[in-house]
Amino acid sequence: MYGKLYVVATPIGNLGDFSFRAVEVLKQVDLIAAEDTRHVRMLLQHYGINKPLQSLHQHNEEHASQGLVDKIREGQSIALVSDAGTPMISDPGLPLVKLARQHGIEVNPIPGACALISALSVAGLPTSRFSFEGFLPRTGSARRSFFENKLSDASTWAFYESSHRIQAALEDMLTVFPAEHQIVVAREITKLHETIVGDSLANVLEKVQSDENMRKGEFVVIVAGHQSSQPEDELSDEQRRILSILLTECSTKTAAALAAEITGARKKVLYQAALAMQGKQSE
Ligand code: SAM
Repeated sequence: MYGKLYVVATPIGNLGDFSFRAVEVLKQVDLIAAEDTRHVRMLLQHYGINKPLQSLHQHNEEHASQGLVDKIREGQSIALVSDAGTPMISDPGLPLVKLARQHGIEVNPIPGACALISALSVAGLPTSRFSFEGFLPRTGSARRSFFENKLSDASTWAFYESSHRIQAALEDMLTVFPAEHQIVVAREITKLHETIVGDSLANVLEKVQSDENMRKGEFVVIVAGHQSSQPEDELSDEQRRILSILLTECSTKTAAALAAEITGARKKVLYQAALAMQGKQSE
């Protein structure tokens, strides 16, 4: 009988965020694969957990994952944890999880803290669609070209940043994005100095430049999607063109739904336009 692989989230700053289930699972497994074994040992000591640890970090995970999968196939259960938050989210784990799944091993998530999701939950920006960009490129020129590519992204997006680069990243962003573009900087989430600042890019940058504390700790930056200047109830020529093509193949309702998916326009507006194109009255 194979053992199982558990992917266990750990707190991102407040030990109270460790779930009961995470503690139970860590007490029950045979081995814990950890990004930094010294760091995790301190966390485990806090909960009276004493288990063998094996290090699994970005420099050895390709190689070490095979050995861990062999152990699971021999019947051992293993928990994967990272230094903080959810493994796999800008953290190690991909080779192990992928290999385990390829071998038909059951991989169970033990959900918990994640800086990205925590920041999104308080940013006050739409989350029906969002993208996560991980850490940005380290050089100014690569960062600026990255921002240029994000300029027209209509959904909310997010990135992780370190204290060394938060100011430079926002300064680069201001060379590309309008000063009034809305962003939220979430700093030290769940920790003593947690600070969530949401304002225009220019105002947030001013706070980061003028307050040394705003450059300390760990950061998630959430960026509002690009707001089209086109009113929501008007369709562009391109949106109309796509809708009319779809109408040749699909029902009014399906064409409107697909056009909404493709163009980002509102389904209700597209449906009314589709009826008008077909010379029908709206219901
Ligand atoms: N796997 C983790 C997660 O689930 O959030 C992220 C690991 S990544 C190596 C570390 C980065 O996450 C930090 O540099 C920072 O950008 C962000 N981060 C982690 N903890 C945070 C916190 N308490 N407050 C703000 N950002 C945090």
